[in-house]
Amino acid sequence: MAARTKGIQISMAAAGRLLIGFVLFYAIIAAGFSIVFLRKIENDARYTQEQQLPLVMSQNRNAIKVERLASLARSIYLAKDRELERQLQLQTHVLAQSFTLDENNELAKGVLDVGASVKKIVSIREQIRRMDSGAGVGPDPAIRADLEKQALETYQSAMLVTDKLSQSIISDAAVLAYGMSGDIQRTARMIQIAWIIILTLPVVTAVGAIYVVARHIISPINSAIEGLQSIDRYETRGFKLRRPLFRELSTIYEAIEAYGRVSHDLLRTNSILQALSEEDGLTTLANRRSFEKRLEDEFAKATEGGTDLAILMVDLDHFKSINDQYGHQMGDTCLKMTANVLRSVGAERECHAARYGGEEFSVVFPGCNLQDAIAEAEKIRLSISSLIIKTTYDEVIRITASVGVASIRSATFQASAQLLENADRALYLAKHSGRNIVKALPSSGRSDLKSIPA
Ligand code: GH3
Ligand code: MG
Ligand code: MG
Repeated sequence: MAARTKGIQISMAAAGRLLIGFVLFYAIIAAGFSIVFLRKIENDARYTQEQQLPLVMSQNRNAIKVERLASLARSIYLAKDRELERQLQLQTHVLAQSFTLDENNELAKGVLDVGASVKKIVSIREQIRRMDSGAGVGPDPAIRADLEKQALETYQSAMLVTDKLSQSIISDAAVLAYGMSGDIQRTARMIQIAWIIILTLPVVTAVGAIYVVARHIISPINSAIEGLQSIDRYETRGFKLRRPLFRELSTIYEAIEAYGRVSHDLLRTNSILQALSEEDGLTTLANRRSFEKRLEDEFAKATEGGTDLAILMVDLDHFKSINDQYGHQMGDTCLKMTANVLRSVGAERECHAARYGGEEFSVVFPGCNLQDAIAEAEKIRLSISSLIIKTTYDEVIRITASVGVASIRSATFQASAQLLENADRALYLAKHSGRNIVKALPSSGRSDLKSIPA
């Protein structure tokens, strides 16, 4: 497994605690903000109710009173009746008095001006009436007209004042209403921005959490699963695991890596054991078990495919006497050199040689007919008889071998064991024919061995 890259690592439990802590902290902050905003709305509403609304209502009342004042002034100007004028003047006086408590100096002064104008109109009208009643000198039209003109001008100036006062009151009320709506708008915007922030943060946090889970938990778990699968497929080499962000996953990774290493070692040991179980320790040729398995497979292939197949059984002649004469070690050397001869056949044509047991060897030739097999057997026999094996005392040992040949075409064989038995009988025949010879049974494959001379 490849080494992992370096990087920071944190515990998944610590990350979880951090997230929960953040959510709680955030909830407290959001709740705190909400309380602050609700308090602000409440305070604003109270301020509007207790401070601003009374002002607006007072302005409204003043506007009505000023309008009433104008109306009284108009009535006095139009009355031309002493009694009515007095009554109206009294009403005007009472109304004007109600303004004296007002903190608005401009308004108080304006009302006093209107009161003075009303008083002047009444006084002019009194002068005209006196003139008209003929007391003293008779009525002078010019003076009368002048007095009427004065009354009109006074009335007009009073109207001008009331108009100005009305406009001033209306604009004050408008400024107040504008201020109130501005305050409400500002508060609403602040709440809007605060809630956008309050709602955006959880969304961003959730997206971040999803990313972290996908990138640093799900993806590493998938890598771990792939790792386990590759170990199961015996692909432990080249298997890469990036260093995960979370420590817990790192522990899992280490366990998988250890499992991969153990699995790899086990695999190697198994393959060595497998090879050993199929190999002969002395000659390193295939052993009997392996040979029989191979023969079984080749026999099945040849039977199914209708192809040729031949086998040889090679047995060293009087080998016991070699052991007796030169010792067991030299006997082993002879067996190894015989094995080399058989191995060299494999370099020339497809065949599988094995040590069948003791000083007996076997060779399977897939796709080989009887004649070719006999020719191969003859070459082997000659090679073995040509071997010059020297002892430590420079003595020369010569060995020979007898070979039994069998072909799948020699008879009707039901199983590979029957073919093997046929080759064994041929070997027996070779031994009885004087040794150092190649023999195959006649086509019937069931020769009466008892008739073979010893
Ligand atoms: P024949 O010509 O009839 O085959 O006679 P033989 O002596 O070769 O046959 P026999 O079965 O009588 O003797 C086989 C001998 O092979 C006996 C045994 O000591 C020897 N042998 C078997 N395995 C080994 C081995 O691994 N090393 C050595 N050095 N000798 C072995
Ligand atoms: Mg022998
Ligand atoms: Mg033997």
